Amino acid sequence: MDSGAVEKDLVEVLFTEKQILDRLGELAAEIERDYEGKDLVIVGVLRGAVMVMADLARALGRHVEMDWMAVSSYGSGTKSSGVVRILKDLDADITGRHVVIVDEIIDTGLTLSWLTSNLGSRGPASVEICTLLRKPEALQMPVDVKYVGWDIPNEFVVGYGLDYRERYRNLRDIGTLAPHVYS
Ligand code: 5GP
Ligand code: MG
Ligand code: MG
Repeated sequence: MDSGAVEKDLVEVLFTEKQILDRLGELAAEIERDYEGKDLVIVGVLRGAVMVMADLARALGRHVEMDWMAVSSYGSGTKSSGVVRILKDLDADITGRHVVIVDEIIDTGLTLSWLTSNLGSRGPASVEICTLLRKPEALQMPVDVKYVGWDIPNEFVVGYGLDYRERYRNLRDIGTLAPHVYS
């Protein structure tokens, strides 16, 4: 595989960097309103949520603690393994604190429903979810998502933190991959 420009591997751009930043600004404003005067920890789910965390946190005009978790739920391809495992736990003690889990996409909902109940068992004041993207399948899972950027069709997307075999995370836009990438 070549190591050149990655943009040409996108068959369609779904969301540009500008659209993403604008939408995150709107979500940040909602979060500011909802958590006014309250202590807030946002928890990014590594590695996909890195870009969303960076831009959402900077859009927040208030103090916020940023912490991270790494869980395994997907293999290297495009299919869910159905297994959730903690690879890196929080550094923060979230007892009595308000928590917003930040992710880039919710697909089956397996990862986030598991994570929500895991963090919920640690005695936080509250646990909510913020995701940039949500696929229709997620609606079938018992996951209450408070902040959603966009609902998208059931397609595999890459860019802005989303990978295909650890590539394309560094694309600024979000799009679908051209078929030549798979073959
Ligand atoms: P879930 O547990 O909700 O099925 O999936 C969660 C994780 O699967 C996401 O955080 C992401 O890492 C991966 N994932 C789900 N759908 C997509 C997709 O369309 N593109 C990419 N690149 N990753 C996805
Ligand atoms: Mg993720
Ligand atoms: Mg991945």
